[in-house]
Amino acid sequence: MRIELKPLLEERMKKLLGKEFPDYIKSIETEPPRSIRCNTLKISPEKLKMRLESQGWKIKQPFKDFPKIMIVEGKLTTLEGEGGELEPLNPGELGRSLEHVLGYYYVQELASMLPVIALAPKPGERVLDLCAAPGSKTTQMASKMENIGTIIANEVTLGRVKILASNMERCGVANAMITKKEGASLCRSLGIQGIRFDKILIDAPCSGEGTLRTSKMTSKMWNINTVKKLSGVQKNLLINALEILKLNGEIVYSTCTHAPEENEEVVDFILEKFKDEIKIETIKLPVKCREGICGWEDKKLDSQVKKSCRIYPQDNDTEGFFIAKFKKIK
Ligand code: SAM
Repeated sequence: MRIELKPLLEERMKKLLGKEFPDYIKSIETEPPRSIRCNTLKISPEKLKMRLESQGWKIKQPFKDFPKIMIVEGKLTTLEGEGGELEPLNPGELGRSLEHVLGYYYVQELASMLPVIALAPKPGERVLDLCAAPGSKTTQMASKMENIGTIIANEVTLGRVKILASNMERCGVANAMITKKEGASLCRSLGIQGIRFDKILIDAPCSGEGTLRTSKMTSKMWNINTVKKLSGVQKNLLINALEILKLNGEIVYSTCTHAPEENEEVVDFILEKFKDEIKIETIKLPVKCREGICGWEDKKLDSQVKKSCRIYPQDNDTEGFFIAKFKKIK
């Protein structure tokens, strides 16, 4: 499907990508592969794969070390194996299967699984998911934590809190509580009560440039004022979250946008504000990541910003994402 970018967005993407811009456009004009994440709170990846394959679904596990991540390549027209042809799933079919209703898997775009891989929450830890709805990453964290430890899953919008709650219930999450508050103000009130976290995920509200492949509306809604406004919201969330992180605790900041104002500029601002209290960490992910950029328009940024990851659709056949990880050292 052809995508019309607004002229300013097109100009900015060309500035970011240079001669790779046509590859980027080609990539976002196609549907991304359909990915699901096995919910190990309910079933093992082997059993889930067997169940789905017995219905004719063709399942690929692209990463040896992450068997929970599965691509549904399509379904066979015959279950006998021979002579069957692979056809695409119908729209919405992934969300209608019995296995989905039972919470055996979560339909989640592959790039969206990466922030939790970067944060690596462990059983027994105390974790804050500051912008949690609809819950793809809360449920992913609960599964990584084997339902042991505590997650506070926060969301500011009531309608989205309800979706978060229903996804957590469907997936059998038993170690999380939900709060409904503006993120920065929640951090301040937790701070006053002396509550501190081992890990915090800020999957921030953003302009969504990375989701153009699946959300055609994003391109229509995009405007530079929103980008600039969101940058302020994101900085405020990070500043307040860092205050309630334990010593040696870690924060992952992620967005599904390419806009440097919402990504590297936020990271640069935080590095400057917290100076020797935090350090930015290198992130290891099972996909191609590009370094954060150290300058945008006429602004030069701290060279440590390079340690953040830019994920472009054309690199891994995913949506676009940005991830940075900080550790509190003082
Ligand atoms: N982490 C979620 C997931 O993986 O399913 C997606 C989060 S989405 C990118 C950002 C969420 O933050 C939205 O649900 C939005 O309503 C919420 N939000 C927006 N502003 C917020 C704020 N100031 N404090 C907390 N949540 C906020």
